[in-house]
Amino acid sequence: MNEFELIARYFTPPARRARVGVGDDCAVLAVTPGHELAISTDMLVAGRHFLPDTDAQALGHKTLAVNLSDLAACGALPRYALLALALPEVEQDWLENFARGFFALAEVHEVELIGGDTTRGPLNLCVTVLGEVPAGQALLRSGARPGDEIWVSGCLGDAALGLAHLLGKRDLDAAAKEYALARLHRPMPRVALGQALRGLAHAAIDVSDGFLGDLTHILAASACSATIELDALPRSAALRACPDATLARDCLLAGGDDYELCFTAAPEQDASIVALGAQLGLAVTRVGRVESGQAGTLRLIDHEGREVPVGRRGFDHFSGN
Ligand code: ADP
Ligand code: MG
Repeated sequence: MNEFELIARYFTPPARRARVGVGDDCAVLAVTPGHELAISTDMLVAGRHFLPDTDAQALGHKTLAVNLSDLAACGALPRYALLALALPEVEQDWLENFARGFFALAEVHEVELIGGDTTRGPLNLCVTVLGEVPAGQALLRSGARPGDEIWVSGCLGDAALGLAHLLGKRDLDAAAKEYALARLHRPMPRVALGQALRGLAHAAIDVSDGFLGDLTHILAASACSATIELDALPRSAALRACPDATLARDCLLAGGDDYELCFTAAPEQDASIVALGAQLGLAVTRVGRVESGQAGTLRLIDHEGREVPVGRRGFDHFSGN
């Protein structure tokens, strides 16, 4: 199979909303009047972002999911995706499964694949997504204000727990293993929550590199500080059952791959946010408060209000952790 047969076979869905999709030099799109485009790209590299033997269908899902998570954080409606692939070889089973995972999630969010690039090379998956947001209404990292409450969707640390298991650092019982690996391999981007938070939240980010590190990005961009209540952070049964307290804490505070949303909002919005969580069937938990201290700093406190050391905040590809 040559490059063009491969594209035609696996990555050429019928054009729907796009005027021109896969197959020409450019895709051609119209933007909904009164809207802005929100655009993001995220790359998954074998051996860096996933173990080389990861299931192809899960990879197809995740490579799109991590990108949709960025659109969710901005409150955008997902519309289009581009897919740039480097493949060591043409393996039809692998491609079929990868495409199945990718298009199943694309279908859920009505995302249209409109182009990409395909080349030979070490396995590398790069998706670019385009979403739409009413002009001026994108949620940004920079909108937090002192007095805002800090919220998190879902639970934190599960994917990192799953990875710790795969790396042989922690045994998990069958139920915890299944749950944590599903969280690692099949994250569900909080797309509906992100859009519903427009006009409700002041700032948002998706938690991809560790909760404390990602919250720090909001604080730095908003020139604020924060206090976080350690015991308020949402933990799954699997994380709570982990007997290695040091590992569980590190997963919770600094583990990567959560793909939950962290956002800030005025206290007057509490009831609306709780109602929104109930409507979406998604836990939303208030975990702390934005303050006017030194930009980008945060304090962790226990249930008695005592300060506890912060430690590692998250993942940085160039800091050696
Ligand atoms: P060009 O050489 O003009 O960049 P290519 O030969 O790389 O075009 O790609 C041919 C067409 O296939 C283009 O429309 C491109 O966007 C699309 N394409 C290439 N690879 C992929 C892929 N992995 N997924 C979706 N579309 C792809
Ligand atoms: Mg090309």
